[in-house]
Amino acid sequence: MVMPLPFLSRRPTVPAKDGASWPHVVILGGGFAGAHAVGALRDARVRVTLIDRNVYKTFQPLLYQVATAGLNPGDVTMFLRGLSLKVPNMRYRQGEVQGIDPERKVVRLDEGQKGQQEISYDYLILANGATTTFFGTPGAEEHAMPMYTRSQALAIRDRVFSELERSSREAGLSHSHDKLHVCIVGGGPTGVEIAGALADFRMQELDILYPEMDPGTLQLTVLQRGDEVLKEFSTKYRQYAADELRDRGVVLQLGRGVKEVGYDHVVLDDDSVLESDITIWAAGVGIPKMVSEWGFPQDKRGRIAVDDYLQVKGFPGVYAAGDIAGQDEPLPQLAQPAIQSGQAAARAIAAEVAGKPRKKFKYTDLGTMATIGRHAAIAEIPVLGGLSGSLGWAAWLGVHITKMIGHRNQRAVAMNLVSLYGGSRATHQPNPVVGEVNSLRAARIFEEQAAHRLFGAGAGASRPADEVAAENAEGAAEVAEPTNN
Ligand SMILES: Cc1cc2nc3c(=O)[nH]c(=O)nc-3n(C[C@H](O)[C@H](O)[C@H](O)COP(=O)(O)OP(=O)(O)OC[C@H]3O[C@@H](n4cnc5c(N)ncnc54)[C@H](O)[C@@H]3O)c2cc1C
Repeated sequence: MVMPLPFLSRRPTVPAKDGASWPHVVILGGGFAGAHAVGALRDARVRVTLIDRNVYKTFQPLLYQVATAGLNPGDVTMFLRGLSLKVPNMRYRQGEVQGIDPERKVVRLDEGQKGQQEISYDYLILANGATTTFFGTPGAEEHAMPMYTRSQALAIRDRVFSELERSSREAGLSHSHDKLHVCIVGGGPTGVEIAGALADFRMQELDILYPEMDPGTLQLTVLQRGDEVLKEFSTKYRQYAADELRDRGVVLQLGRGVKEVGYDHVVLDDDSVLESDITIWAAGVGIPKMVSEWGFPQDKRGRIAVDDYLQVKGFPGVYAAGDIAGQDEPLPQLAQPAIQSGQAAARAIAAEVAGKPRKKFKYTDLGTMATIGRHAAIAEIPVLGGLSGSLGWAAWLGVHITKMIGHRNQRAVAMNLVSLYGGSRATHQPNPVVGEVNSLRAARIFEEQAAHRLFGAGAGASRPADEVAAENAEGAAEVAEPTNN
């Protein structure tokens, strides 16, 4: 008898022969919900088409590490076609979904030169997620930097390093008192994580990498409309996070909303003006406007209204999962609800196809985590209770590494985080993951914006000097001196 050698045998990458007649499930979006829905359809007698504008799935919880040069962008993204290794009945198709016609059961895709294409479905899972919202804040779209996607995280990283290079060149000039202010709008997990990572960079690496620059040049401020950061955690941990940030020299402006963003400043609700050379927008998650054109019912926050089975209300065969889906009691827009609802929607379809009864979706709360920085994280886990400090940080690291899809990702993240956080300050060898740093372009834009700048050398070139000076003094008074501990 001839035994097939496992490493020579072909992997089953095509559906079984009768697969062509199987019902067609189209999944819109290969994020947490979509990718896990694919996995849950592995053994179902269906053909699966996964559509996404990107060829990769993004692990958003670690995007802040990409934005702050701790991780490579490819560490937090995974090639969606790789899912077919475990789910041979899946095909991936790149495209931008433009519209859906539930009557004709087709999805309309923009595929570039080919124009619009239609893909028909028997079952549809809407898993296209949420996006950044600027709440109509004037200037925010133009000047603030959102961090929702990999390219946005890279844009922040490159801007930070370009501005650091620009500032370092000016360190010896007459206006060397100029600070490089980074304002982070939003005191939720993303805002806290970016602020903490930049503060760690300032404490551990800045003086080594930029010896010509006073480490106090880099100023970090978190602006939060509410009175506390991390409102999803209990009071004790909110306070812990705020104390950790302050210990790291981050200025917290709590109870202060942003009503306008300019090239080098933000205007707060009370009309005070803060210098902000880089404004990072970590506030606000909304549903993409286009969704309202698809004709599905939406709740008051724009999420697509689904029933207990995650089926879109009034649309048999159409399901929604993850950030885009809103049950009568909506779940938080987080990874675990997206993973679990994506799997549940897929299982409901598999049951329909097999002629079996569907089960209602029941969410299991596995807890919430956030990190502030080196040796400081918080975790609130049902049954286990709360963790903070180094213990919380170890738990946070373990969960974030093991929850990634893709072994390459897990190994790369583990290695890079060990390089970043391993050892003491004495033994640490800084080597940030840098990209396209164009400080000459940054300097050119800085000069071009002189007329619109309220701060720094040559600001307000075309405006009366006393007006600019008064504004500068007012803004400077708002920002505390950093601690460099
Ligand atoms: C910076 C950041 C940090 C976060 N940190 C955490 C955290 O620490 N813990 C946590 O639990 N949650 C965190 N979240 C939230 C978590 O990432 C989301 O809740 C989760 O990604 C939602 O999964 P989803 O599948 O619904 O959407 P997504 O993961 O956003 O996936 C949606 C997919 O749809 C695609 N898509 C969208 N529109 C179209 C279209 N028109 N055509 C084609 N493709 C389209 C997108 O490319 C994307 O791949 C964070 C989010 C962000 C932005």
